[in-house]
Amino acid sequence: MALTKAQQLEDLRVHGIGNCKRCKLHATRSTIVFGEGNAEARVMFIGEGPGKDEDAQGRPFVGKAGQLLTAVIEKGMKLKRSDVYIANVVKCRPTVNMELKRDRPPDDEETSACGGFLKQQIDIIQPAVIVTLGNPSTKFLLNPKEGITKIRGVWHLYNGFPVMPTFHPSYILRNGGDASPLKRLLWEDIKNVLAYLHGEVSFADIVKKIKTLPELNLRDTTADKRDDEVQGNLF
Ligand code: SF4
Repeated sequence: MALTKAQQLEDLRVHGIGNCKRCKLHATRSTIVFGEGNAEARVMFIGEGPGKDEDAQGRPFVGKAGQLLTAVIEKGMKLKRSDVYIANVVKCRPTVNMELKRDRPPDDEETSACGGFLKQQIDIIQPAVIVTLGNPSTKFLLNPKEGITKIRGVWHLYNGFPVMPTFHPSYILRNGGDASPLKRLLWEDIKNVLAYLHGEVSFADIVKKIKTLPELNLRDTTADKRDDEVQGNLF
């Protein structure tokens, strides 16, 4: 009998990753942060790697940035966090000089050692849409020429999966938090994701838009005052 998606993920976690030492990050980790959520999720959020709180708890996005992501999911998207799947490109915490003081993005060696696990997670889950959070995860899946500030809000495809790149919640927290205009941009991107999930935008529409790249002015940025007002109270 074929394994369920949850069983396949568990198999990957236990037998694929196991006590992985494929890159140097194993030396300083407390736990491997595999990812969590619904194996049948329609939405997959992907960040770059675990931070201090995640390393301690063995769960992705549980620190302050995680609280913002959870608010986006629950208050903004009206989903439960357990409805979606959340993972990172690397499963162990990268820190500057391996000193466990300051977090940093994973380097190329770590990304190439670990990234295959994320690709397997995507293959198993087969989400309707992937949301990449920040530059490293966007670069890993899409290898775009432009950085996240240019390509956020623009649909892309990874192996046939629609991908919406947007800001990492920690970037928003570092740049004004609740008062940051970046938060409104994040919400615009999430609204695009919701439009696709609700069938208001079709896969063909997304592909049509992608075909017109690299014109990056594809997003409908028409200010929708009502939505903005709602968003202000959402997360
Ligand atoms: S980051 Fe990934 S490849 Fe590196 S040790 Fe951890 S699980 Fe293994």
